[in-house]
Amino acid sequence: DLILFWHRRDLRISDNTGLAAARQRTQKVVGVFCLDPNILERDDVAPVRVTYMIGCLQQLQQRYAQVGSQLLILQGEPREAIPALATALSAKAVFWNWDVEPYSQVRDRDIIESLKEKGIQVLEENWDQILHSPDDIFTGSNQPYTVFTPFWRNWSSKPKAAPAETLKNVEGLSEQELQTAKQASAIALPTAKDLGFSWENGLVIEPGEAAAGERLEQFCHRAIEEYKEQRNFPAYDGTSQLSAALKFGAIGIRRVWAATVEAMENTRSDEAQTSIRAWQQELAWREFYQHAMYHFPELEQGAYRQQFKNFPYENNEEYFQAWCEGRTGYPIVDAAMRQMNNIGWMHNRCRMIVANFLTKDLLIDPRLGEKYFYQRLIDGDLSANNGGWQWSASSGMDPKPIRIFNPASQAQKFDPEGEYIREWLPELRSFDTEELLSGNISKRDRAAVDYPNPIVDHKIQQRQFKVIYQQQKEL
Ligand code: FAD
Repeated sequence: DLILFWHRRDLRISDNTGLAAARQRTQKVVGVFCLDPNILERDDVAPVRVTYMIGCLQQLQQRYAQVGSQLLILQGEPREAIPALATALSAKAVFWNWDVEPYSQVRDRDIIESLKEKGIQVLEENWDQILHSPDDIFTGSNQPYTVFTPFWRNWSSKPKAAPAETLKNVEGLSEQELQTAKQASAIALPTAKDLGFSWENGLVIEPGEAAAGERLEQFCHRAIEEYKEQRNFPAYDGTSQLSAALKFGAIGIRRVWAATVEAMENTRSDEAQTSIRAWQQELAWREFYQHAMYHFPELEQGAYRQQFKNFPYENNEEYFQAWCEGRTGYPIVDAAMRQMNNIGWMHNRCRMIVANFLTKDLLIDPRLGEKYFYQRLIDGDLSANNGGWQWSASSGMDPKPIRIFNPASQAQKFDPEGEYIREWLPELRSFDTEELLSGNISKRDRAAVDYPNPIVDHKIQQRQFKVIYQQQKEL
């Protein structure tokens, strides 16, 4: 009996719950991935992300070959392509892992219906990319959480599953069946360029299961013990950089969790343990936002909090353009935007700084910033990006009414030597650190290196933001 396993954001054969379930039922397990035009033809796709994804798929094909099977590639509307392939190959079942995103929820329900009509089985409600199902973590009154801290208390107290069995000793398709798959539109894996995405800057994060596993080991071996101290300094390599791997499932979350538990067992230092706990908490933030997206799909459209639903953002186009290009005249903001534009990844501290700046200094709708991030990030993920933007804009699930970041104090605290600013704004390299951090650089000096004057005045803007916020509250 053949089971097709449809990979989506679980591009690996180890610690994959749905794939392990398929293997338990049969020896003949064949992978399939569908290049979905509903996703790839949107206007918010980042070329760097597609490049990373294709890299993961190349490796996944090799992994399948190593264990004796194949990964087939389809291109087209999955509602048609998946059932058509399953029918052509007389598959007994199509398995896949569940996803919280609104688009996937609707698509998957359609596909389940069409498979069931054809007598093909499916694996329902199988979660893989999160440690707990969104239907398992509720408040005492059986509601989804909208505040992180009690969510964390509940979530972290629950036992976590061990990594799922790695796929092995499987049987793939015969030559004849492969021909049938081709007739049913299976294609060779295209490059990102073939799909119309060109990314020339190289990948700072190596794609695939093996590289993600190495990065995890490396991080859990040492940096995790200093994470609490070092995580906020963008010039320092103090975070895991596993976000793209987690987004595309190049690594399994149970394996990641197990590595943190092992790191915890390997140290007696209180400080190290607190750091490991802090990193576990980031994994919980990831799940908090995924659960939120599952229970409140309207988050995708915009503000969670009432006061922000019709917030009169000014949306000045010139300001927005300057922000996108890293030419606001605020060095820490510009350095961060240039980091993302150049490598497709931005440090978390800087994501908070630039998001805060866009919404509270430039008075621009967070949805514009969210979309720009999605167009640029290697780890762009609907739930995390939306959660991060809503947190920064104060429009989301954050019990604190508003937060306003002062770019200069953020730079002084988190880039005290100006290393990060100098790395991404080479034109400012020769300025004094104090000038870089405070932004107190004369017009003449700025002009000499072709660096813009500040487009707005932080003091004035934050006052204005507070006035508008107050008015919205009183409406
Ligand atoms: P680490 O510090 O090593 O954290 C470990 C993992 O935990 C990350 O890989 C990530 O999967 C998860 N994580 C950490 N912080 C958060 C968080 N605040 N919310 C959700 N998950 C988290 N993360 C994305 O994965 N995709 C996004 O599109 C994204 N957009 C963001 C937008 C804004 C405005 C903000 C403020 C944050 C955003 N984040 C996003 C969260 C966070 O910035 C990144 O996950 C993190 O910087 C990735 O680096 P890392 O893997 O080294 O993280």
